Amino acid sequence: MITENTRIDLARKLMNEIKEISNTRGITKQAPEIIPIMDMVHEDGLAVLAPDPEDPSGFSATRGFAKKGFNKPEEDMLGLYLVFPEDTKLEGVAGMYAKKTKCGAYSSATHTILINAQYPETLRYLAFVFFHEVQHAQIAQKEGRVWKQTNRPRNERYKEESKVWTLEYKIALALGGMKYERAIRKRALSINRSWQRERADTGSGEGFQLDACFGKAPSLVAKKERDMTFELFAAFMAADLFLDKMSAEERKIKTIEVLYSQNYDREDLFLENIRETNNV
Ligand SMILES: [Zn+2]
Repeated sequence: MITENTRIDLARKLMNEIKEISNTRGITKQAPEIIPIMDMVHEDGLAVLAPDPEDPSGFSATRGFAKKGFNKPEEDMLGLYLVFPEDTKLEGVAGMYAKKTKCGAYSSATHTILINAQYPETLRYLAFVFFHEVQHAQIAQKEGRVWKQTNRPRNERYKEESKVWTLEYKIALALGGMKYERAIRKRALSINRSWQRERADTGSGEGFQLDACFGKAPSLVAKKERDMTFELFAAFMAADLFLDKMSAEERKIKTIEVLYSQNYDREDLFLENIRETNNV
């Protein structure tokens, strides 16, 4: 059984990593949007969730930096559920979340961020995923979707992803340093050329460049995913550098659409499904 302390310890390590990322030199210049996000992840506003062994169906017990009642819509505290493999044996919402969380996700229905604690990536990368999901939480809060069941059209979700990934590539720029910046600029240039020629580009397999941002990829899964992430970052950078604002937005959404329909959308659809079938 994963104890609450195990979850809280890992949450603390993640928080420290997040603080380190936010203290990186030049980050507020490169990505000023990070400031309101950091305001959201202070320890008093974050509840580390732990499934309740006495009430497996309810997933109601919560402890951590602060307490959060899982079924209380008036509660605006952001939840963090660090999913471990044995959580998949649980019943109810906790088990469902655990079974379906590949790497990271955010559910507005429960205002909770889900992170796979044993995803084969570095702690820094997981902290980066956390940033991604906090942005979704922030947008949901702004749009009044927290603690509500929603069923949003796909293009609306892709538009949100485009916004979230824009900040992510900027954070990576601050983390990666000069050598990384040169590499991604070079790739952005070549992606722009392929757009101009309307020629398909299958990617450059340069995920290793992200080692400068996140540390060395610790697994084959990480390496493959970083190849995709690097291409996404480079495409987003190319859109911002070489296209006018409207075309850049269109291009980014198109990039997200291709990537998500091939890789991530099952996770998204699952979260929609939870909203529909479970009144949580
Ligand atoms: Zn996302």
